[in-house]
This record gives sequence, structure tokens and C-alpha cells, in this order.
Amino acid sequence: MLKYKNNLLFIDDVSVFDAAVKVGTPFYIYGKKKLLENYKALDGAFSKAKHIICYAVKANENPHILKILAEKGCGVDIVSVGELNLAVSCGINPKKIVFAGVGKTDDEITEALKKDILMFNVESVPELFRIDKIAKSLGKIARISFRVNPDINAKTHPHITTGLPHNKFGLCFEEAFEGYLLAKELKNIKIVGLHLHIGSQITDKDSFELASKKVSGYIKKLSAAKIKLRYIDMGGGLGIKYNDEKIITPAEYAKAVMSNLPKNHTIILEPGRFIVGDTGILVTKIIYIKKTSKKNFLIVDAGMNDLVRPAIYGAYHDIIPVALREGEKHNWDIAGPICESSDIFAKDRQMPKVSEGDCLAILCTGAYGYSMSSNYNMRPRPAEVLVEGKKWRVIRCREKL
Ligand SMILES: *Cc1c(COP(=O)(O)O)cnc(C)c1O
Repeated sequence: MLKYKNNLLFIDDVSVFDAAVKVGTPFYIYGKKKLLENYKALDGAFSKAKHIICYAVKANENPHILKILAEKGCGVDIVSVGELNLAVSCGINPKKIVFAGVGKTDDEITEALKKDILMFNVESVPELFRIDKIAKSLGKIARISFRVNPDINAKTHPHITTGLPHNKFGLCFEEAFEGYLLAKELKNIKIVGLHLHIGSQITDKDSFELASKKVSGYIKKLSAAKIKLRYIDMGGGLGIKYNDEKIITPAEYAKAVMSNLPKNHTIILEPGRFIVGDTGILVTKIIYIKKTSKKNFLIVDAGMNDLVRPAIYGAYHDIIPVALREGEKHNWDIAGPICESSDIFAKDRQMPKVSEGDCLAILCTGAYGYSMSSNYNMRPRPAEVLVEGKKWRVIRCREKL
């Protein structure tokens, strides 16, 4: 998606510098072409199976991005009523909405039932009873899956593993089995599926294959207890290349996920990062070049309130100049203006020559960038821009003070 033309960084046919001059910094800028490519690559990889792609809204909830995906027939994985309302207003078909989360409130359950979503991914037995009770009061039948916690170490960052016994998510296979037996007896509940999500930024194919294997054995066990499923929701988690990771291709992913699954089910996938991660960059300006006896800093105008991944996960993001200059390379710590020591985007990072006032692009920030941003330090959230071929437009205005 990115290339330099005459030493200026372009997304498709748009100069990032031109957009920076008009929009001001910091801002996120996304490429529509890449977004569609990612969606198609994954959709295509599963073309042999009945499947629904339910994009995880939390990765990037910009309405314009949701509308583009809705037009392609994409569904969504939501975790709040806010995401539910937004997705529906952007044209996502409620019959393609799945609802996860350990703490669904009565209001959220009510709204999801009224909108008649595809299914609730239930994470506890008390939640099951709550859904049944609310469905009864509304005269509705709630379609549900249990989220199982398959005890798989997906070999990713501890903060983003979700399928281990000590994680708060889902139920272990045995407890979920008890849940299914209880659900069978509830009048306003219809069991339709099984759900799991083992973590995020997974680059280990074997984890997906193991999940597939465990699920297939479990489905047999459920089937023996006369519990028939229509949907197998294998969650999200497909990793992308931030640095030097060896990533799984969509074809390898599809093969691993489907390796053991029975053929007569509809597979649901909940990719977030894979769909949007590499479609976006965060553009920021160097405010000061600060050289001290110990360290050399580039102080930039984006902070951890705009992009929190480096601060909370120690995440690596490539950082490149928006306009290349001739000259020697140097090593820098690239830091934001926030009053926290963790507000650092890169440490000892080698950069081509830069000057005060230059713009830098922090790469691969389309997922969990804007959506995790905040007003910490009373900073307005940045603008968001979308590139469509030769054109670009602001798809969310910068917040005002
Ligand atoms: C966050 C999340 C996803 C998306 O994860 P990615 O790593 O972005 O693909 C999918 N499903 C559930 C339940 C999630 O919590």
C-alpha cells in the first residue's frame, strides 16, 4: 500500500504529505484498496466452506470502514451495545452479528434481542439464565453459542492471550458442556453454535490447528448428547507483520482452522487486526529534536492517547519519514508529549535524516489504533482520513478542545 515517489510517501495515489498539510497532525490515514484486498483474501481462502466473516468492530470502528465492509456482505463481532447500534446503522445485516463479552448488561442483551442478531456468544451460566429471562420478557427466542476456553497457549503477548484457563473468557469444555445441557431445557434459548477465540496477533499455525482438533472432538461429544450445532465460530486472532514475524497466510490459516472441522457446519470467523491492521498509518510531526547526554529524542505530536499499543503491549511499529531527506542515519527514541514514561513509540530506532517539523508515519496502525485512543492529558483525538484511489477525504474530524 505504501511507496515512496520522488522521496515522498504515498498511499496508493495520494501523497501523505499533501494530506498532512491540509489536515494537520496527528492523523490516521487508511487505504481503501488494501482494506478490500484483505477482506477478499480471507473470504477467498474460505470459499470452499460455508462461512461468514464477522469483522471484530473493536479493531477499528470508523463508520466509513464499517460501511465499506457492509457493502461486501461482511458481518461483525461486537462487544457492546455501542458497537451494535453503530454496525446496524452502517448497514451491517443483524443476521450476521455475533455478540461476545463476559459482561453483557441487561440493556445490551435487550437491544441485541430486539435487533434479532445471529447469536450471543455466552461466556457464563449466569449470563445464559439472564438472556433466557430477558428473551422471555420480550417474547423472543435467543440464539446462543457457548464460548469455550480450549486451554491453548497461542504464543502471543500475555495481555492478548484469551484461551488459557486463568483467562476470564468463556468456559472450559466440561463447564460449557454443563451449560449446553442447561440451555437445552430453557424455553427462550436456542442452541445454534460453539464459539472460541484463543488470542490476538497469532503467528503460530499450530495453535489454530490444535483449536480445530479440540473443537471437532467436542462437537462429537455434544452430538452424542443430542446437541446439534449449526455454527462453529472460530474467533479471530490472525496475526499480521509488524516487524520480522513470519506470518500465516490466509490459505494456511483456512487450512489450519478447517483441518479437523466437520463439513456440514457454517464457519464463522472474527478477524479484526487482519482486516484493518496494515491498512492504516498514524502521521505525526516532530515538534522538537531533544539531544541529552544520555539519549537523543524525537519528540512528536502524537502520544499514547492516540496510539497506546507500544505503551501497553510493548508493541513494535515501523516508523518512517513522510518525506525522505539526504543525509546520515541516526538512532532515536521517538516519544510523545504525554506525562508518562511509557509514552514512547520506539527506542534506539535507526532513522534516516530528520529535521524539526518533519512528519513521520507510524506503520500498521489501522487496528487497535484510533479505537483504543483516549483524551488522556485532555488531548483531542486525532483526525481519520481515507484514501480512495487518487482521492482522499476526512472520515472523522479531529476533536476540538
Ligand atoms: C478482539 C476479538 C476478536 C478480534 O481479534 P483480532 O486479533 O483482531 O483478529 C475476535 N473475537 C473476539 C471475541 C475478540 O474479543
